[in-house]
Amino acid sequence: METQTKIWLSSPHMGSNEQNYVDEAFKTNWIAPLGPNVTLFEKAIQDYINNEVHVAALSAGTAAIHLALEILGVSHGDEVICQSLTFSASANPIKYLGANPIFVDSERDTWNISPVLLEKAILDRIAKGKKPKAIVAVHLYGMPYKINEVNAVAEKYGIPVIEDSAEALGSTFNGVKCGSFGEIGILSFNGNKIITTSGGGALVTKNQAYKEKAIFLATQARDDAPHYQHSHVGYNYRMSNVLAGIGRGQMEVLDDRVAARRANFDFYKASLGHLEEIEFLNEPEGFFSNRWLSCILTSSYEMRERIRYALLEDDIESRPLWKPMHMQPIFETSPNYSDGTSADLFDRGLCLPSGSNLADQDLERIVTIILKELTK
Ligand SMILES: *Cc1c(COP(=O)(O)O)cnc(C)c1O
Repeated sequence: METQTKIWLSSPHMGSNEQNYVDEAFKTNWIAPLGPNVTLFEKAIQDYINNEVHVAALSAGTAAIHLALEILGVSHGDEVICQSLTFSASANPIKYLGANPIFVDSERDTWNISPVLLEKAILDRIAKGKKPKAIVAVHLYGMPYKINEVNAVAEKYGIPVIEDSAEALGSTFNGVKCGSFGEIGILSFNGNKIITTSGGGALVTKNQAYKEKAIFLATQARDDAPHYQHSHVGYNYRMSNVLAGIGRGQMEVLDDRVAARRANFDFYKASLGHLEEIEFLNEPEGFFSNRWLSCILTSSYEMRERIRYALLEDDIESRPLWKPMHMQPIFETSPNYSDGTSADLFDRGLCLPSGSNLADQDLERIVTIILKELTK
């Protein structure tokens, strides 16, 4: 057999203008972490999400979560609720601040934070003496969390939500773009996300003072003085003007990228949806997922591994779902409110190759292998 190329889970996909905007930065010597590309990239994100939001472009989504927590007043010894089924970057910044994560399990309709367990956790933490300072909710794999229910619980107890929209740029709920639902939203432009700046992130908020605070903290917290004067601990978290040039080009093709990823999902579902061993996550009424990653739920851990290995044999990358944070060695001692849902999803779930640059024959190749494995 001829050698086939490797198929990646999710690889960068440049459009036609990224290089031009990067060249512009070089030609005008705007190489510092500030400049017209940063401003125009922020404007493009704002125009895309909606005009009520303010955007601060940063060096990473993780940095955006760190700043969001700090802006909301999280500090040493505080408790912060965090969706357990997520990437570790949702939770790590809680630790940076010396605060303690409290993990909450998922519900099955969106695989995101369960509003029922969320309320249970809040009540129990209050009973134990500490009201959580913030809630980190995640739109996993692009599927919005139950926004109305989560916000209702958050409002009932007066706890702000940090909306981790790292995987969900382009997703909507009732026609409104993700990133604009939390007190503060965050985006990621890491290399594997739906659009990328090679590395980068953004903080999104309707509160202009929060944006200003984010930029202040992200640029070493300089007080207003001709010399360098500091009355706060600062960070170096601003996005570079070179990378923001990539971002400007990527924003121009974002809708195409969403359409391509959704088409991947539709193809997988049309080709594998009839199989008893495989389930897909459907969009509840009003939910629109960018389908950042196409995921399947298999009938058992063994089945999941059989499919994963069959793909690997053919040089195709797939990946189990995120391992829940409450099952991670680093968070072993953190309190968690679980009912086994995320553990089960982790056991049986698999992310299939999902790049917007997959060719039709790549998708055919993936599906053929899965079908062959299941009819063995
Ligand atoms: C990627 C990701 C992040 C972190 O973003 P970076 O830009 O890689 O720092 C945070 N949360 C989730 C859910 C992510 O997938």
